[in-house]
This record gives sequence, structure tokens and C-alpha cells, in this order.
Amino acid sequence: MNGYKDFSEKLSLIRQKEISLKENVNYFLSEIEKRNNINAFISTFDDAVEQAEKIERKIHSGNHGKLAGMIVAVKDNISLKNKLMTCSSKILENFTAIYDATVVKKLRGEDAIIIGKTNCDEFAMGSSNETSAFGKVLNPVNEEYVPGGSSGGSAAAVAANFCDAALGSDTGGSIRQPAAFTGIYGLKPTYGRVSRYGLTAFASSFDTIGPLANSLSDLEILFSAIEGWDENDSTSVRPPKRNGQPKEKIKIGLPKEYFGEGLSEEIKKAIFEKVDEYRASGYEIAEVSLPHTEYAIAAYYILTTAEASSNLERYDGARYGRRSQNSSTLEKMYFNSRSEGFGDEVKRRIMLGTYVLSAGYYDAFYGKAQKVRRLIKDDFDRAFQEFDLLITPTTPTPAFKLGEKISDPLQMYLGDIYTTSANLAGIPALNVPVGKNSEGLPIGMQLMTNHFNEELLFKAAKIISQ
Ligand code: GLN
Repeated sequence: MNGYKDFSEKLSLIRQKEISLKENVNYFLSEIEKRNNINAFISTFDDAVEQAEKIERKIHSGNHGKLAGMIVAVKDNISLKNKLMTCSSKILENFTAIYDATVVKKLRGEDAIIIGKTNCDEFAMGSSNETSAFGKVLNPVNEEYVPGGSSGGSAAAVAANFCDAALGSDTGGSIRQPAAFTGIYGLKPTYGRVSRYGLTAFASSFDTIGPLANSLSDLEILFSAIEGWDENDSTSVRPPKRNGQPKEKIKIGLPKEYFGEGLSEEIKKAIFEKVDEYRASGYEIAEVSLPHTEYAIAAYYILTTAEASSNLERYDGARYGRRSQNSSTLEKMYFNSRSEGFGDEVKRRIMLGTYVLSAGYYDAFYGKAQKVRRLIKDDFDRAFQEFDLLITPTTPTPAFKLGEKISDPLQMYLGDIYTTSANLAGIPALNVPVGKNSEGLPIGMQLMTNHFNEELLFKAAKIISQ
């Protein structure tokens, strides 16, 4: 055991010299090694040990950042200067990043220690972490099951106790769903609240970076360190100033479209137990309707594949990444580099994306999906005029078995039913672990709120985590 319940306890144990930060890093590195069949990491950093010595001295001097000594894993689609960044793709297997992402700069600025880069679905496309070119990740709770995706390595690393916390990215659920499958907290922040500078683009108008952690307090402190306006990200937003007192009576909506057919009875029951706890704590609860929910998956997969097809044009074998060696012409070089470098799921999405953007189909698919996106956002705007929070399941089922869905992409996509709407609307959403099913698999509850109101998610999650 690493011997502390959360980061703040660890920090005071370091101060009292009950814990050595260097030993703590070595402990994590040896745990990663011991359970390397989990395959949570693509690379680990031995220089974390030196950093630990340096930061330990800072802690004892009393002059240190707020994450001093927090050991963090970073998804391998986020840039760390001079470190490998593969995005779990063969096309980037030897690519070394040339600058630090803003979130990484912020972590370092607050004296966090980065222990390694985590495995994920290739270019963050997937829901099971089985599309990685570097092998699937196992769920540490039960190794026959997927950890979820695409930030499956980050979630597995936190759940298996390979680090204190992790960063992931969420375009349609990739932080919340693996958090739900592994029984930890995972936050998808408001679009624009955390800088995307240094995050490899998948679908730029959906992509967010967010934290995963075993405890709510660790999640909160990590989020507070990475959020904030950034001049390097043109979609970065400064949170609006809030006027007046916080509301006394918090009203929670239960969107009826999220509790219908396809939802596991055990998940439903676990969530309604939590709803009762909220009621008992004085929260007002009522049903609400988000009528366009049924179109979310379709709109999501049209818009994100369109954006991905354009974002992934840059991997052409010429500028960086893998170049095919046996091509007699430039065109063949492009063609072969992409054919050899991308996996099936990425190719499927590039094809779908170019199709929905092509002349003749643009209005019927891409244009329509954009209108649907607006209607989904309007649903939330209407709901948030009356409600402060929404409670839903994070996923329709608990983790599924490895290999169960990988040959049926549509089944895989349908699992994203409860998470994609928050990305379509740009609102923040949090996975809260709320217990286990009869087979011992974790169950996740999703809390959603209006833009820039993450603090309310934390406040509400606290009520049931006590
Ligand atoms: N599972 C979703 C997809 O495959 C979400 C991915 C993500 O959030 N990065 O698109």
C-alpha cells in the first residue's frame, strides 16, 4: 500500500517525514512493473525519481506549488517536450513532442511529478481501449473486462494505484466512461475552460482535457491547477463572473430519456438510491425532458468524424511520423504511409468523415448534424433555466468483456449514449463512482451542470461520497 487516503494526507505525511517522496515514486514504478499485463502505460519516466528528490526538498523548505509531490500520469495524446507521444498509433510510434502542453506546464509549475504516458485508444477513438496499436489495456478491477476508453490507460493507472491521479481527454465520454468502468472520479470540464494547446486534435470543437482520480478532493485540486484561460488556445474562455449568493435550494433534474430501454437495472437502482440521498439532504428532485437526446449519437459520430478526417490530414508521412519506405511516387508515399500507419477504427472514421463532408452529402449529413447539435444545446439551456444539476447514468451497462464489442463498431458507439450530449453542448460533466453490481463491476453516476459551474458538480458529489 502507499499508505495515505488522498493527496492532502500524503503531503502532510511527507512534511512529517513519515513518507519519502522518492520511495513513493519508486513504489509506483514497481507497481506498474509488477502488473505490466494491465498495459496502462506506453512509457514511464525514470527521471521522476530525481524530480521527487528535488520536490521533496521544496516541500521541506515550505516553498512549493499546490501539487507538490502529486504523481500524475498523462494520456499519450498530450504533449510533453522531448518525450515520445504516440497517440497509441503506429503512425506516431517514434514521434517525440517538441513542446509542453499548457496543462503539462501548469502541472510542472505546481510541482506535480509526471510518471509516464498512458495507453489509450488510437487517436482517442474508441470506448474500450482495444484500438491501441500498443495492445489493449485490462481493467484492474477484473482483468477479463475492458477498462473503457479512450482514456482507459489513465483510468486503469489510477484505479490500479500506479499513480495519484491522471489526465485524460474527453471528446464524447473518454474520461467519464473509463472512470465509470474502473470505479473512480473523472471530470469532463466545460469546453474552453482547460486549454487544449498540446492536445492532439481529434474533433476540435468537442475535445477537452480533464482529471481522473480516486478521491474527489484530488480531482478538485488537479482541476484547479490545470484550468484557466490560455492565449495559445483560441477557444479558451475566461469563466464569467457570477453575481449574487449561491442558491439555497438546489434543484436536480432527472432526464427521463436517460433512464429508458437499454439501461441496466442494477445501474438504475444504484442511481436512484443516490437520488434518495440527495432528497434526504434537502435537494429538490424532479423529472425533466431533454427531447433530442435520441439523436445525440448520430450527430456526434457525424460531426466528430468530419472534424477528425480534416484533423488527421496532417499525418501524411512527409512532415512527421511514420513514412512508408517502399513508395516510388509522392502520392504512393502519402497513400502507403497512411495505410500502414493508421488502424482500422481510425480509417473507418476518416472515411465516414470525408463522406459526410463531400459535396452532395454535406447538407444532408454534416449540415443536419450541426442543426441537431444546436437543438441538443437548446434542450440543456431550457433544463438549466429550472434545474441546477442533472443526474444520469454514465453508461448503460458496466464494463463489458474484452473482445465482446470490438468487431461490432455500432454496438460500441451505442455505449456512448449518455456521454456524448455533454460534448455536443459543451457543458461540464462528472463521473461519480456509486458502488458495484452483483459481479463486482463498478457503477458510475453522471452529474451534469451548466457551463463553467464545475464547482457545483464537486459540491454535489461530496454529499454522496461522505
Ligand atoms: N467513445 C467515443 C468515441 O469513440 C469517445 C471518444 C473520446 O471521448 N475521445 O468517439
